[in-house]
Amino acid sequence: MTDELVSVEDHRDRILSSIDPLPAFDQPLMEAFGLAAAEDVYASVALPGFDNSAMDGYAVVHADVASATEENPVHLPVVGEIGAGQASLLAMSPGTAVKIMTGAPLPAGADSVVPYEWTDRGVANVVITSSPEPGQHVRPRGEDVAEGDLLVQEGTVLGPRQIGLLAAVGRPSVRSRPRPRVVILSTGSELREPGTPLGHDAVYDGNSFLLAAAARQAGAIAYRVGIVPDEPRAFTDALNDQLVRADMVLTSGGVSMGDYDVVKEALAPLGTVWFGAVAMQPGKPQGFGTIGEDRVPIITLPGNPVSSYISFEQFVLPAIRRMMGRTPYTRPSADALLIDGLRSPEGRRQFARGILSVVDGRLAVTPVGPQGSHMIGDLAESDALIVVPEKVTWVEAGETVTVLPLDEEF
Ligand code: AMP
Ligand code: MG
Repeated sequence: MTDELVSVEDHRDRILSSIDPLPAFDQPLMEAFGLAAAEDVYASVALPGFDNSAMDGYAVVHADVASATEENPVHLPVVGEIGAGQASLLAMSPGTAVKIMTGAPLPAGADSVVPYEWTDRGVANVVITSSPEPGQHVRPRGEDVAEGDLLVQEGTVLGPRQIGLLAAVGRPSVRSRPRPRVVILSTGSELREPGTPLGHDAVYDGNSFLLAAAARQAGAIAYRVGIVPDEPRAFTDALNDQLVRADMVLTSGGVSMGDYDVVKEALAPLGTVWFGAVAMQPGKPQGFGTIGEDRVPIITLPGNPVSSYISFEQFVLPAIRRMMGRTPYTRPSADALLIDGLRSPEGRRQFARGILSVVDGRLAVTPVGPQGSHMIGDLAESDALIVVPEKVTWVEAGETVTVLPLDEEF
């Protein structure tokens, strides 16, 4: 326990430097959806894999139909028919046409396709009234992807387009990093589960839901354990029960200077978890370390809901992303015009809640309410954090501030 304030960066670096990306393994494509690729994937086949027709029509030799017009149509015998996936006819001679469907392989000898619309759709013979350009309506082999092309770079998050491409080149699986399993415990003898009766001195446990949802949004598998009372024994038991399924543990509450700060009381004696104060508001009391034989990382967050959420944003989100092999670790920031003046404590970085808008084509932000760290209503209304540096105690309306938009994918 130190009295000195640690900077936000130092605390984050402490966490990130003791967390490794989870080991990667080969996962079926749909399991890998949303994960970061842990290999460079090269095309082992070309796309298209063979010259094929882009239209329903007739495969022809261009020279045979070059002169075709409405007035002087070209007549050709139709010597066969090729549907997609039915390529029994492999070659044709000049002076003939082959009926061909979209996606079907072009027979050797043909070089162009006359669409149905320029013909009489003849079965034994076809009348062609217009000529394609040489090679027109043919999709050449390798036009899209050449064998050996780099398709997905290591670290790329596999979205629908990447998953589709990997399948299109015949990959059933891809090496990727799994979703971290994050166990979430909220501490507080005053807490009650939503849906149960609330006494005059109790509050509903919003944090375990907030943190579980945030963890899931970050890509993790969240195990919401729920409420643990302010009894070190109960906390330790709950923690030990959960360790087997945890790549990371999050706790909320019980880390400040109160009489019943159960997380600190239970973990400080282990000597593997640091507790201290970070130069931020809200979210000053923080803790981080490892527990159990497997040295599972544990991040202990303060109990006030807004503090808990902002601490998640600053410390847990980067940790989850690092485990998943995703970069960047922290949210991209933007500049915004501050609409109302904002007070900020000396020596601490304030993460104020704000609502984004656009004023005269410029990103703007309006601080929400009195900025209390218990105000989850205001938090829910906001869609950005306004970052006020440690040295600044007042920002005037009209000044430019740094914001962290909270709803953007990155
Ligand atoms: P603590 O950090 O345990 O001292 O809690 C600080 C404040 O946050 C107290 O007012 C708690 O009642 C409140 N709080 C703690 N945990 C939660 C939670 N899971 N959901 C809602 N409020 C909480
Ligand atoms: Mg508490």
